[in-house]
Amino acid sequence: MPECLFCKIAKGELPSFTIYEDERTLAFLDINPVNPGHTLVIPKAHATNIFDISADDWAAVCETVRAIAGPIERALGASGVNLMMNNRETAGQVIDHPHVHIIPRQKGDGLHLWPQHQYADGEAASVQANILHEVQKTA
Ligand code: 5GP
Ligand code: ZN
Repeated sequence: MPECLFCKIAKGELPSFTIYEDERTLAFLDINPVNPGHTLVIPKAHATNIFDISADDWAAVCETVRAIAGPIERALGASGVNLMMNNRETAGQVIDHPHVHIIPRQKGDGLHLWPQHQYADGEAASVQANILHEVQKTA
């Protein structure tokens, strides 16, 4: 099976505008940014998404996100950042290697996030029960 795009970037086999690297993680500029400074943080080890990344790699990715969010915001003169992760095709995942998007935000940049709606009567309690059932199976 051909190696995935982000594994090749992690190994330096393909170029990227790298902004941070440590033993477990790499952060580099997204090639098609929502806003300038849009950064992707990946584990160096291959996985597919949140469902199969190891706990240690996920912790490392989260720590890298935390550590570079402030520098990215300051460097771009931004006044906020969105963190985003798409998992599986239905959720918009295109590259099957885990990656967290850090998107610097400028006031009035026109980026509108997801629309929201209200729960119907009793729906939230039913959803909660279904989730609790699944969570308890993994506990
Ligand atoms: P996803 O939709 O899977 O969450 O996001 C994949 C992201 O990877 C997209 O935002 C896309 O612009 C970015 N991307 C795709 N190919 C490349 C590439 O070759 N280099 C870089 N730096 N980013 C890429
Ligand atoms: Zn990979």
